Amino acid sequence: MPDRKYDAVIVGGGHHATIIACYLARAGLKTAMFERWHEMGGGACGEELPVPGYIQNVCAHFTRFYTNPAYTDFELRDHGLVYVFPENNEAWIYPDGSYIFGKTMFPVIDPFTGKSSFSQEAADYTIKSVGEINKDDGDTVAQIIESYKGAWKEAFGKYRYSGPGEWGDGPDPLEALFNHPKYPLDPKIALGTVGEIATTMFKSPEMQTFYMRAIQTSNGLFPQDRPGPYWHIHALGLILSMEPAAIVQGGTHSITHALLRAFERYGGEFFVLNEVNKVLVDNKKAYGIELTNGDKILADIVVSDLSIELTMDKSGKDNWPAELWAKGQKLKDKPDDLYNTSAYERTQLLWGNIALMDAPKYPQNPELGMVPRLYFGKADPEYFLSGRYQKERWDLGIANQMYLLVAPDVQWDPTRAPAGRFAALVEEFTCPWRQFSEKQWLKIKKDIEFRMVEEWGKYAPNVNMDNFISAWIATPDDVVNRNPCMPQGGWGALDANYERLGRLRPFPEISGYRMPIKNYYLCSSAAHSAHGIGRGSSYACYKVIAQDLGLKYKPWEERGW
Ligand SMILES: Cc1cc2nc3c(=O)[nH]c(=O)nc-3n(C[C@H](O)[C@H](O)[C@H](O)COP(=O)(O)OP(=O)(O)OC[C@H]3O[C@@H](n4cnc5c(N)ncnc54)[C@H](O)[C@@H]3O)c2cc1C
Repeated sequence: MPDRKYDAVIVGGGHHATIIACYLARAGLKTAMFERWHEMGGGACGEELPVPGYIQNVCAHFTRFYTNPAYTDFELRDHGLVYVFPENNEAWIYPDGSYIFGKTMFPVIDPFTGKSSFSQEAADYTIKSVGEINKDDGDTVAQIIESYKGAWKEAFGKYRYSGPGEWGDGPDPLEALFNHPKYPLDPKIALGTVGEIATTMFKSPEMQTFYMRAIQTSNGLFPQDRPGPYWHIHALGLILSMEPAAIVQGGTHSITHALLRAFERYGGEFFVLNEVNKVLVDNKKAYGIELTNGDKILADIVVSDLSIELTMDKSGKDNWPAELWAKGQKLKDKPDDLYNTSAYERTQLLWGNIALMDAPKYPQNPELGMVPRLYFGKADPEYFLSGRYQKERWDLGIANQMYLLVAPDVQWDPTRAPAGRFAALVEEFTCPWRQFSEKQWLKIKKDIEFRMVEEWGKYAPNVNMDNFISAWIATPDDVVNRNPCMPQGGWGALDANYERLGRLRPFPEISGYRMPIKNYYLCSSAAHSAHGIGRGSSYACYKVIAQDLGLKYKPWEERGW
């Protein structure tokens, strides 16, 4: 039973709520989270799927939470958050049996702090592998690695965790790279569209396709979208195996468990099955929340972990300046064509676990079975650039030419499946939820299981229906049913192309985590630095709250960001 009065209440108990809750509680505020679902963590969750005995990450699977400041600020490794870092990293197998194979270039050397160090050996391995496909691309990769190591990696971390800053503050850490004396980021490349970047930077169809497909995993962007420096560097970090593919023991829910343990250590409270009906506002000032059961909880500050639309809806139209309210409503508009920049079009997945009796065997090279992020598909940039890959997904739900990503975490985390059995997460992209009826989505959900097994079997012949145990593949319909913050069933709450990042996210007037209602803040991934586990919105939101309330706990002063 919640108390009637807290210093801080958080609406929603999703991923960013569990992070900011730790900061607020550690700063000495009496803090409580209110979550509508039966479990905490939002997208950082797990379920016993596809059949009993297996653990599936139903939402976020790929995480690197050890890079988030909360990992060290709250000693999460000591609270049970254990990552394993495979030596192999990211690979792509093409239909002719050729492949690109990357080794982890920045392996973590201290699991308690997440500190990593550069491995020249791994870099050479990856450069050689790309160079065997195309010599020029190998040289390009070598140059990118130098710049990443020399300046880009650090700037990326600062950008992610420092908040968008005020208007007129000058260049952000990534914009500053455009003028870096030694490792400049070429704006002519980095500010291009995904398609332009892929075809300017790389010569081979293999690497061009890799970049365009992998940036979908990063952020769902289409070839005609601009990723901006943030997602561009993010995607390079992945496809060139610079950042480790980290495996969480016990699945993604372990992140939530560790954060909740830390939160409780500082006296925090959380309540599941407690849906917030509205934020209480008087005279343009938030003073608490009302639950759907009618209970009122008073608080000095209210922090929203919801999508921007729900953050607005819960606090009431009359409390918002009319022009900002109108902007928020516009985000919900249905686009009139495939290629405009509406807000919820990009991150819809067909995504889930396939359980097999035996692990896949790859005749191209048995070691490919021990790659934590393995892509398959034809090197066909034109399929992406022409828009066919997207259009077929919009028309059929499943593209005719598939591009699977397989993540066999069980190879490093035996808790994910019964002894001797195998399971892997498999990813393909689809279209927004509104394209199909619930019945049609249920059919797609069945069809995709067989399509995925069939496609995977082209690269690993022992992946077939004789080896198949079960699968549970989430569609956008499953995402919508689970979480009202993801209105079109995408994995991101609000698209994060360049036009919706940094000072522009969710829109310019409210990009600084303070809502136009006093004492009301936005900590969710609808704010900078966008969706994904361990991103910076909650940490940066806490900085703003600490400034407003004069809180003493300021771990960034020592860290420098
Ligand atoms: C299918 C899928 C795959 C994904 N894969 C990845 C991945 O591999 N890697 C990655 O980094 N990220 C991934 N993500 C994204 C990641 O899960 C999100 O970016 C992250 O969870 C966002 O955190 P958040 O705190 O902003 O929102 P959420 O985690 O969504 O939390 C919002 C919370 O608010 C609750 N809520 C809503 N309304 C109310 C209300 N009225 N009252 C109380 N509570 C309410 C919701 O139930 C939810 O728990 C994936 C997401 C999905 C859906």
